[in-house]
Amino acid sequence: MFERLQEKLSKIFRSLSGRGKITEKNIEEAVKQVKISLLEADVNFKVVKEFVESVKAKALGEEVLRSLTPDQQFIKIIRDELISILGRHPSTLNLKHHPAIIMIVGLQGSGKTTTAAKLALYLKKNGRNPILVAADTYRPAAIDQLEKLGKSINIPVFTGDRKNPLKIVEEALSFAKNSQYNVVIMDTAGRLHIDDEMMEELEKIKNITNPDEILMVVDAMVGQDAVNSALEFDKRLNLTGFIVSKMDGDARGGVILSISYVTGKPVKFIGTGEKVDALEPFYAERIVSRILGMGDVLTLIEKAEKELDKQKMEEIGKKILHAEFTLEDFKEQLAEMKKLGPLSSILELLPGAPKIDLEASEAWLKKVEAIINSMTKEERRNPRIINASRKLRIAKGSGTTVQDVNKLLKSYEEMKELMKRFKQGKLKFPFKI
Ligand code: GDP
Ligand code: MG
Repeated sequence: MFERLQEKLSKIFRSLSGRGKITEKNIEEAVKQVKISLLEADVNFKVVKEFVESVKAKALGEEVLRSLTPDQQFIKIIRDELISILGRHPSTLNLKHHPAIIMIVGLQGSGKTTTAAKLALYLKKNGRNPILVAADTYRPAAIDQLEKLGKSINIPVFTGDRKNPLKIVEEALSFAKNSQYNVVIMDTAGRLHIDDEMMEELEKIKNITNPDEILMVVDAMVGQDAVNSALEFDKRLNLTGFIVSKMDGDARGGVILSISYVTGKPVKFIGTGEKVDALEPFYAERIVSRILGMGDVLTLIEKAEKELDKQKMEEIGKKILHAEFTLEDFKEQLAEMKKLGPLSSILELLPGAPKIDLEASEAWLKKVEAIINSMTKEERRNPRIINASRKLRIAKGSGTTVQDVNKLLKSYEEMKELMKRFKQGKLKFPFKI
């Protein structure tokens, strides 16, 4: 199925020779394929429609990268948008209170009890001292299950009277307050379907315990239905995030996009197996290619992006080469390069480039400007004449320190040295990255 789709796509791309801007017409095929791909990943159909259309509207009229076709460029925009919806960085748990309270909720069979134990182990490995609370009295076996899991990871399980969940959490909390445990993880009861009795119980538990995190466990295999239950749980409990379980199965993870999109809440972890250590922090980049499929196209897009970075760096290289390179040029170069990100990170990519300690920060650039402005023309042209007394004068005049002046002069010398090496051909553009 997958192979066939990719084959079809590459054929379409090969036949496309159009470049320029993204138009309704030249991305028609990509729009169709992205929709199919997302639907095949089990993203909710309403989400697919809305998401793709809104990205399309944004993308129309955008420039197409030299090495991509409009279709590929559109898929790149889709990918970037997916990453931004799912969160660029893994979102961490927000545990403020002492003890911190984590409430695990979700439908029956989604993986709550297992995930509660996984999370406890994860936190223990990260230096916390968690305790588990068995507040699912709806299914008596759930308490035994949690006790067994707790034993296997050597984490205590609070069971109270094993009957009244509200009483259990209340007692667990007052117990934890007077103990060495600093995170309380509560397993709660689910149902096969959304149910008012369940929701009311969960609301009460929430009110009693005031959790730092309310995490809904969603089974990656449930597909289309995930949206409704996620919305309902979020509406009633104001979730802080999700844990998507059973990502080790066949599911391509479309559920992740669906629930993040409709609730705006982050997926914080994914479950990747039945064992207690099968829990991973969620990384958007890793999941996007799984949801989107289209491995070949994504690889191609990544290559094109690297090419773009290379072009930018070549431009800088040329500028460095052709600059007269007085201190004034130096000031300009700094400002120019700042637009492209920290200079040090660019220079790091140059093989053989000397380690230059240049802080291209806003504050430092302001200082550089002030220092250079306080110099005489002669000093700018020939910084070697800047002796101790001149340094003191420049520092005073620019409202900086002699150390700042020294730092600037050192950076300048290093930059000049780098330039010399370019000119001598010891460093070459284009260089390999
Ligand atoms: P609960 O009813 O929500 O408490 O769900 P359970 O924790 O009892 O889990 C239901 C089933 O799903 C159990 O058989 C678990 O072993 C299994 N399970 C939970 N998480 C994962 C996972 O990440 N991967 C796999 N393969 N199975 C899981
Ligand atoms: Mg359970």
